[in-house]
Amino acid sequence: MEKEDGIRAFLSTPIEYLKGVGPQRADTLKTESGIFFFEDLLRLFPFRYIDRTRFYKVNELKGDLPYVQVKGQITTLKAVPLKRGQKLTARFEDETGSVELVWFQGVRWIKDKLQINTPYVLFGKPVLYQRQLNIPHPDLETVADFNASPLKGLQAVYPSTEKLKRRGLDSRGLSKLIRQLLEQIPGKLPETLPDKIIRHFNFPELHAAYQQIHFPQNPDTLEAARNRLKFEELFFIQLRLLKAKTQRHHDVPGIVFSKVGQHFHAFYDQYLPFELTGAQKKVIREIRQDMGSGKQMNRLLQGDVGSGKTMVALLTMLIALDNGYQAALMAPTEILAIQHYESISRYLEPLGIRTALLTGSTKASERKSLHESLASGELHILVGTHALLEDPVSFKKLGFVVIDEQHRFGVAQRARLWKKSVRPPHILVMTATPIPRTLAMTLYGDLDTSVIDELPPGRKPIKTIHQFDSARLAVFGFMKKEIAKGRQIYVVYPLIQESEKMDYKDLQDGFESIEKAFPAPEYHVSIVHGKMKPADKDFEMKRFQEGKTQIMVATTVIEVGVDVPNASVMVIESAERFGLSQLHQLRGRVGRGADQSYCVLMTGDKLSDDGRTRIKTMTTTNDGFRIAQVDLELRGPGDISGTRQSGILDLKIADLTKDYDILSHARKLAARLLQQDPKLQDVSLQGTRNELLRLEKLHPNWSMIS
Ligand code: ADP
Ligand code: MG
Repeated sequence: MEKEDGIRAFLSTPIEYLKGVGPQRADTLKTESGIFFFEDLLRLFPFRYIDRTRFYKVNELKGDLPYVQVKGQITTLKAVPLKRGQKLTARFEDETGSVELVWFQGVRWIKDKLQINTPYVLFGKPVLYQRQLNIPHPDLETVADFNASPLKGLQAVYPSTEKLKRRGLDSRGLSKLIRQLLEQIPGKLPETLPDKIIRHFNFPELHAAYQQIHFPQNPDTLEAARNRLKFEELFFIQLRLLKAKTQRHHDVPGIVFSKVGQHFHAFYDQYLPFELTGAQKKVIREIRQDMGSGKQMNRLLQGDVGSGKTMVALLTMLIALDNGYQAALMAPTEILAIQHYESISRYLEPLGIRTALLTGSTKASERKSLHESLASGELHILVGTHALLEDPVSFKKLGFVVIDEQHRFGVAQRARLWKKSVRPPHILVMTATPIPRTLAMTLYGDLDTSVIDELPPGRKPIKTIHQFDSARLAVFGFMKKEIAKGRQIYVVYPLIQESEKMDYKDLQDGFESIEKAFPAPEYHVSIVHGKMKPADKDFEMKRFQEGKTQIMVATTVIEVGVDVPNASVMVIESAERFGLSQLHQLRGRVGRGADQSYCVLMTGDKLSDDGRTRIKTMTTTNDGFRIAQVDLELRGPGDISGTRQSGILDLKIADLTKDYDILSHARKLAARLLQQDPKLQDVSLQGTRNELLRLEKLHPNWSMIS
């Protein structure tokens, strides 16, 4: 134990105390790479390896090769003056040919160091510049040095930056520091994974894994080390999440909804307007079971746009009512809250269930009577925006809360919900932004999840078309044809920042040109955007919903949830400026009726690579989960909406776009371990406990995301 404490103390030594670092380099390491302590350097993982056993010949070099290694000699070397400064060029030759080397920095120093006609091992990336192959800023090492070097086989490449390089900490410099550090550890790194798991996967020990990830012996030992370290990273995240969940179940008694009663059955048997899909039934079963279990439910319901989440919410709210509790539904925007309120109250009125709406624009006088009827229990269901949280409403017996579109609600807001009730209500969070499995398991790993993976029958898949701005007239012509068939159309403009003047100008210009192309009295056009007064927005939305206008020009205000089944065309302007999940959300506004629906993506002529991938993805698939996966690959997990603040996704080695298998094993084994030993009390788990403690200290907050 003492020895392990010694190692832990060693690992938490400030980085300036590592030999060869000192205060200046330490500063740069801290600001550039977040390396403060010895252990941070140990966890600076290589992003790539160079195979130092593989040599190319000069005549094999091509511009599309990655880094290559070549043996040869320098035959000429000269400094060439440039307008500003100078460059150094050299001819590098082997028996098959020659290639130019260039340096733009450190010319004098490099020139002095290099020797003509001496055998070198060159390492660099060939590039094609004005149809000539050259190798900029190669590394050169004499063959004698190369042979004497301990770095054979695979050599790690570390992420460095200009500032680090200026302090001599390029990949090689970093590698040297890490080698030193590994040599100085006073013993073996204490093991963190339970012995059983190590044996189960035949993992290398922690110490060996660190050695191999930095200085691999061969591709197999590297692979084993990498798998272990990835597993370890994901395992401890899962352990924390699942432990928090177990703890919560233990600390927070759940309201038990023991029965499904009269409200549910009456509605189900007499008023349900359609047969539920198999997926809807399955999800309702899962929720019922959860709410009857004695645990407080915290469930994420994922279902693509149009999959029928609202009906699931409604039926499950009836279960709360059947058990003598009130229910609430919270939506991210006023328009959505109104829409939910209208459909829910319409459905439930015949059953004598009382529903009310609370938003920022609810008048003070209404609020007062609303508060009273909530407190007395006369009011059964409250639908609203976040006003529902901010308002000092108190319920008589709040048992169930549905949150529509979770990513707009923060942690603190959810915590406030809990305070609305003596016992925390069951919570169902619904999201139409499908989240790739790996993200869901990590980001929402302490929630239970349900998925509606089936659309109601009879829907025709939406046809998605890409058009350049230059084809606008053709698009207008198409819109006219659809309007002639009695259809309605959305035209959406990007509004990245609700306050950006530019975007409003686009919107306004677009509105004017559409009004010109679609003149009254034949056509009527609505406009809705975030700067309008809620009452005006409502008015316009209503006109569109009632079919009084054929075109709705809007910003992303309509992004979530609005349901107008007769709208069958979605035109998205500057589609290249939208992210994939937003495009998918917008497209989901159409395709709700029986008619063939269309989504037209308008873009400028020039598209970035990412832009092209996004448009292509949209035109080739309607599957929200596939789109989410592409989105994850394009943007990386940190950028997916609403996830940024959590820090849980700052992974050092595992990759959520690729490591699904490792993650699911990690989750399963973490769950099993907690089941056997919820507090990890067994002596054999000392190392695991210590590591958990270390991580909890490092990121104290991220397990609070639900
Ligand atoms: P979302 O999951 O996007 O919130 P909604 O709940 O708004 O989807 O449902 C989309 C549309 O599908 C609504 O018009 C709803 O009435 C209808 N719908 C829901 N479930 C079914 C079903 N099982 N059969 C037919 N139509 C359904
Ligand atoms: Mg919805």
